[in-house]
Amino acid sequence: MTAMNRFLRSLTSLSSRPFSSLVSEAESRLHNLSLSKSTSRSSQPWRRDPSERNVQWVFLGCPGVGKGTYASRLSHLLAVPHIATGDLVREELANSGPLADELSSIVNQGQLVSDEIIFNLLSKRLENGEAKGESGFILDGFPRTIKQAEILEEVTDIDLVVNLKLRGDVLLEKCLGRRICSECGGNFNVATIDIKGENGRPGICMAPLLPPPHCVSKLITRSDDTEEVVQERLRVYNKMSQPVEEFYRSRGKLLEFDLPGGIPESWPKLLAALNLEDHDHKQSAAA
Ligand SMILES: [Zn+2]
Repeated sequence: MTAMNRFLRSLTSLSSRPFSSLVSEAESRLHNLSLSKSTSRSSQPWRRDPSERNVQWVFLGCPGVGKGTYASRLSHLLAVPHIATGDLVREELANSGPLADELSSIVNQGQLVSDEIIFNLLSKRLENGEAKGESGFILDGFPRTIKQAEILEEVTDIDLVVNLKLRGDVLLEKCLGRRICSECGGNFNVATIDIKGENGRPGICMAPLLPPPHCVSKLITRSDDTEEVVQERLRVYNKMSQPVEEFYRSRGKLLEFDLPGGIPESWPKLLAALNLEDHDHKQSAAA
């Protein structure tokens, strides 16, 4: 078990304790860790030299921006796990045991899953990955708060934080265009974005993701994909993420990336921004 996992695990060792007590414990640990920072970095085995391990990246982006899609594509390209906290929650719900029971009652009551449980799931996931010889990761959905970012910084090195952005009007239209097939559960998007550039502002085109013919008559809209709910979701996200973005910006680790369109337009530009064009060519040649 790496020190990072031990640390995360120790934060969650008593799941019945209120989160406030865990936070104060984390704070005192952070304080102690900062005091002992004078010890050389190389004496911390989990801070491996970047040349000896794979990338340790974080993906930020508001709901609906396609963060999961880009993080997942990059994880395949770089052969690192894409660790999405949303997936960890869904996977745990499919298990049985005390944590799964606790989680399902939280979700059924429509409450937010606490940081404490997220820590628990993440540490379990990293531990399992380590046992399988994984190196590096792309985190998606974590850290959500400054507190989480601080804990992450104390236990491991984050090389880069990619902040995916899409202009507000386009994002709203994309969110409102989401459809689900009530029969097969497939996710589609009926919104066609075609905005002309004006006043030096570039235009943006995004093709819809249309369903196959047999799904067309079965499409439904999620009840929370209304303009009001989507706007509120974005407002809450921005309020929460801005301090996290600032945290990484001030450390020179934040890469802001404005999505220029859909996947066909954005993917090559994202690879270029990450200096990974050659990587993609090598992979295509090998495929
Ligand atoms: Zn279908």
